[in-house]
Amino acid sequence: MARSRRPLIAGNWKMNGLTADALALAGAVAEGVKQAGWTDRELLVCPPSTLVMAIAKAVKGSGLLVGGQNCHAAASGAHTGDIAAEMLRDAGASHVIVGHSERRTDCGETDAVVRAKAEAAWRAGLLPVVCIGESLAEREAGRTLSVLETQLKGSIPAGSTASRLVVAYEPVWAIGTGKTPTTAEVAAAHAHIRRVLGGLIADANAVRLLYGGSVKGGNAAELLAAGDVDGALVGGASLKADEFLAIAKAA
Ligand code: PEP
Repeated sequence: MARSRRPLIAGNWKMNGLTADALALAGAVAEGVKQAGWTDRELLVCPPSTLVMAIAKAVKGSGLLVGGQNCHAAASGAHTGDIAAEMLRDAGASHVIVGHSERRTDCGETDAVVRAKAEAAWRAGLLPVVCIGESLAEREAGRTLSVLETQLKGSIPAGSTASRLVVAYEPVWAIGTGKTPTTAEVAAAHAHIRRVLGGLIADANAVRLLYGGSVKGGNAAELLAAGDVDGALVGGASLKADEFLAIAKAA
């Protein structure tokens, strides 16, 4: 991995966490980050939006970054139940995940919607982590690379640069299942994503590409060593401080 791409280990807590446990988890991760004194990698936690402000305050100064899991494309308005990127920023977030497969599936988010959300993140001063990934049926049909290409081209805004974008490759069939692609499959997907990025943005070689899907302490070193992998987007294993820190150590 090119050292110019500082690995990012991002935790997606999904719809998990009440105040006391979430603060304890974030505190333990922040303590681990402080003790390790990492300057060569970044750690990010993305709690539910109700907890972003409390966690951002609690971990301030530790080096641990805090992000949202989703945002609306608009800055404000009649969108009951939604959250604006500006609100996440106001609560202390620096990043936001957009286009997670659970939102693409549960909420019908299209590539165009994801792209608008990434633009909203920029407007608010947040760094978007744009997720793409093939379903099992698409993989079995041999369509993985073309699906990734279509999603990528549709989901990242014009004007993307390495400092304004993180891409997460998350095969849908690997999320929360304990199944992972082989390192060769991960490397092939990431190489293709970088090739496609090369046709879209000038500094494609500097964009961080995360792998996500059943990453844990035990398989992180292998997955993170696959070609063109610049970190991980971690779901289940990010809910345990020691597992999440073990993944970060492997980066
Ligand atoms: C995710 O939700 O982004 C994810 C990768 O989940 P898990 O690590 O649990 O597979």
